[in-house]
Order: sequence, then structure tokens, then C-alpha cells
Amino acid sequence: MKLHFRRVLFKLSGELLGSRQGPVDRGALSFFAQEVATARDAGAQLALVVGGGNIVRGSALQDMPLTAGHTMGMLGTLINGVALREALHVRGIPCILQSSLSCPGVADPVDPWRAREALAQGQVVVFAGGTGNPYVTTDTAAVIRALSVEAQALVKGSKVPGLYEADPLKSQEARPIPRLSHREYLARGLKAMDEAAVAIAGEHNLPIVVFKADERGAFLLALQGKVGSLIA
Ligand code: UDP
Repeated sequence: MKLHFRRVLFKLSGELLGSRQGPVDRGALSFFAQEVATARDAGAQLALVVGGGNIVRGSALQDMPLTAGHTMGMLGTLINGVALREALHVRGIPCILQSSLSCPGVADPVDPWRAREALAQGQVVVFAGGTGNPYVTTDTAAVIRALSVEAQALVKGSKVPGLYEADPLKSQEARPIPRLSHREYLARGLKAMDEAAVAIAGEHNLPIVVFKADERGAFLLALQGKVGSLIA
């Protein structure tokens, strides 16, 4: 099957994993494991960076020093990573979990060389713990990991179909933006991806696809260049 991007870093926001049932929803995990399986069956090599917004966002914790809040946020991504690994394993998908926060017995340390080997062998690599540093988000981690594993693109799952001139959840007239450069993204002050993340991606010519992730088959369509907005 023709894929636009074969080796890909999939950034899965934590909010896509939660539901009214709870912060880590079994149905959502199973849905994304199936999305990953479908793309892998089509020949994609997949690494994932999982967010933690369904559990803790450091900046949203009041009365908590930011450094501690962000550490709690990073720990949340590790919880999601453990859950995602199980969901992939249940589907029979070989996978490894690497964390930038040291957690022996739970996850291996981040090792780009080992990750690239695993990807080449058809294993899925789940990265948790963000960058391991406070004051940034998992978008930045996703760019760094994408570059480290030599991914051809970063594909970011969103709740809306791509980039818009205004927030489509607030304004129904917001017009979609099918394609723009990293520089244009930053100049327009768009909010779908963190500025820091887009700036690093731009410096290294890493394309970013933003697509609506909660529809069956959408991830594979994004890898085929058929849905989403492209920052390149
Ligand atoms: N975080 C951090 N450093 C990182 C990645 C994440 O401090 O490198 C913290 C930050 O507080 C963030 C939280 O972890 O709000 C959860 O990550 P994020 O908001 O990126 O999750 P997502 O929105 O993708 O679910």
C-alpha cells in the first residue's frame, strides 16, 4: 500500500485516551491500538509519544509549584504509556515502552539506537515521560523523538480535522488550512501544536501532519496523505 510516510512518530494526546468513564478509557485504548495495527499492517514503522493531559497538566494545577506540577504531568504520560503498551500487546502487536523518567521494572530508558532497531524489526515503540524536563509539553517530546528515530513525519492526533484559521470548536466559520510552512504556522500564532515544538521541527525540516484521530481508519489515511493539514 502506498504510504506518504513510512516511519512515523504518532503523537497521541492524553485527552484522546480519556472519557466520561474515567481518565484512561479501555475503549479508547483499544481503538488506538487498532488504528496502530491497521497502519502497521500496511507497512508503517510506528513510534508513539503519548501525552498526559487526561491525567495531569502541570500548568493547570493551582497552588502547586510549576516544576512539581510538570513532573506530575510527565508521570501521567508514563501511566498512559503502560496502558497503551498493554492495549497493543493484547492486539498481538510487538512493542516496547521507553521512558525519559527512570522507572526500572516499568519502562526501559529512552535509547534512540535501540528504538530505531526495534522499529526496523517491526516493533512499535511507545515513548513516555515527555522530554524528562518541565516547562515543555509532549509536543516538544514528540518532535525530539521523531528526529531521534529518523521518522519521516510527526503525525499529531487531534479532535478536529486539522489546522484552522480560528478555533473550530469556538467558531463554526473557521476556515481550514490544508498546508503551510513551519514559519507561517509560527507567524500566525496557531495553537494546534506548541510553538517550541514547531520551531524545532522547522529547523530540521520535519513535516507535521495534524489530523482528526478519533475516526476509524483515519490514522492510515493520514499516513497516505489523504486527510489532515500539513506543516512542511
Ligand atoms: N510535561 C512536561 N515536560 C514534558 C512533557 C510533558 O513537563 O516534556 C508535563 C506538562 O505539565 C504537561 C503534562 O506533562 O502539561 C502532560 O503533557 P501534555 O500536556 O503535553 O499532554 P497532552 O496534551 O498531549 O495530553
